[in-house]
Amino acid sequence: MNPSLESFSQGEEIVTGQTLDTNAVWLSQQAVTMGFTVTRHTAVGDKLEDLAQVLLDISKRADCCICTGGLGPTSDDLTAEAVAKAFDLPLIFDEIAYNQIERFFLNRNRQMPECNRKQAMLPKGSIRLDNQVGTAPGFALQQGRCWFAFVPGVPSEMRHLFLEHIQPTLKDRFDLIPSKLITIRTTGIGESDLQERINKIAIPSHVQLGFRAELGEVQTKLLFPHDYPNQHIENLTQSISQVIGDAVYAIEGLGQQSVDLVSVIDGLMLSGQHTLAIIENVSHGLLAAKLVGVSWLSSAAYVQSLDKLCQQFHVENQPNDLFSTAKTIAQALQDNTNADMILIQLTDDLDVNTKTQNGLTTVTNGLLVKGKYAQTIRTIAGNIERKQHQAAMLSLDLLRRYLQGKAYE
Ligand code: ATP
Repeated sequence: MNPSLESFSQGEEIVTGQTLDTNAVWLSQQAVTMGFTVTRHTAVGDKLEDLAQVLLDISKRADCCICTGGLGPTSDDLTAEAVAKAFDLPLIFDEIAYNQIERFFLNRNRQMPECNRKQAMLPKGSIRLDNQVGTAPGFALQQGRCWFAFVPGVPSEMRHLFLEHIQPTLKDRFDLIPSKLITIRTTGIGESDLQERINKIAIPSHVQLGFRAELGEVQTKLLFPHDYPNQHIENLTQSISQVIGDAVYAIEGLGQQSVDLVSVIDGLMLSGQHTLAIIENVSHGLLAAKLVGVSWLSSAAYVQSLDKLCQQFHVENQPNDLFSTAKTIAQALQDNTNADMILIQLTDDLDVNTKTQNGLTTVTNGLLVKGKYAQTIRTIAGNIERKQHQAAMLSLDLLRRYLQGKAYE
């Protein structure tokens, strides 16, 4: 069985919802990848009694706990005191820690305030974790069943201490066999639709299935036990991607590195030596922004309305025939550029630029390549920012489907 790990986040701002607990998210991802079973996330405000009680409970139930926050110099930073109280350990002045804190201030031409001396008081028997990027050192100690590591709450400091000191120690202290994670990345399909398709496949009970949805993309995650045979992993992954179909744009974990939609498109555009010109409307410039830095984008334009676009290209806006209008504009644009592909995104929803409009919008995405024009029509909903994201993803998805040889109309 994998060793268990918990994260423990401290601070009033976490429990009151002013700060999102991204430390717990990041630490859990690291821990799962290393081979821990993450059993619990706890967050507690700046209350000494509560903090001490939680530490005591964790020392009895978990093999490892990473605690973040509460190591600062102010009176609400109570972590070291809570450890002292929970485990009946005196706080001892650590001269090396003190000198490091003093140097941190000297290097910035500042006098160390007296209250920072508190950060050099570490629980007896703990190991100091030197902090090269901030003032507070972390510390680690074994109590009961659990090996605890305490690090500052500031995410960059937390990550530095974890990668520099904690991760190597965990590899030495624990018998870790990483699980195998496969991520099937999809666009143009919703979570519930995915679930229904995957329901057709029998997934063994010891394989964990999960979903992660973002705007325009859903990731299907399969976590396999470390000793699951590679051939079976490949077979199950293939069966699942087949039932999902053309919405799959990448599979991570079968030898491939992590890839996002734009990098998949970038690779295919480069290998096909394509160039692209885009016109976007509903995505309000976001489509071009997503493609920032690619070498094959020959031109990008944002147009506020179909009428303006028609005027610009001297094309007649054919009522109730967006297909013909968009196709004519795409052809006109192709005549004016040297791009071999034209991607055009339009709507005839006149209110789409209005912040207060939260209704439905129909987006047309057209792709003109080698004289063939094809388009998708999708209805999107939400506020203007949500539609902006969805429209950009729909355009990218159309391009990706063409490049991957999938059905795209
Ligand atoms: P410092 O020495 O800076 O005071 P600290 O260990 O005392 O470090 P906190 O005071 O608890 O850390 O938090 C410092 C800042 O770090 C917070 O204001 C917040 O922005 C961020 N932070 C704290 N905890 C978390 C968390 N769990 N997830 C994300 N950010 C956090």
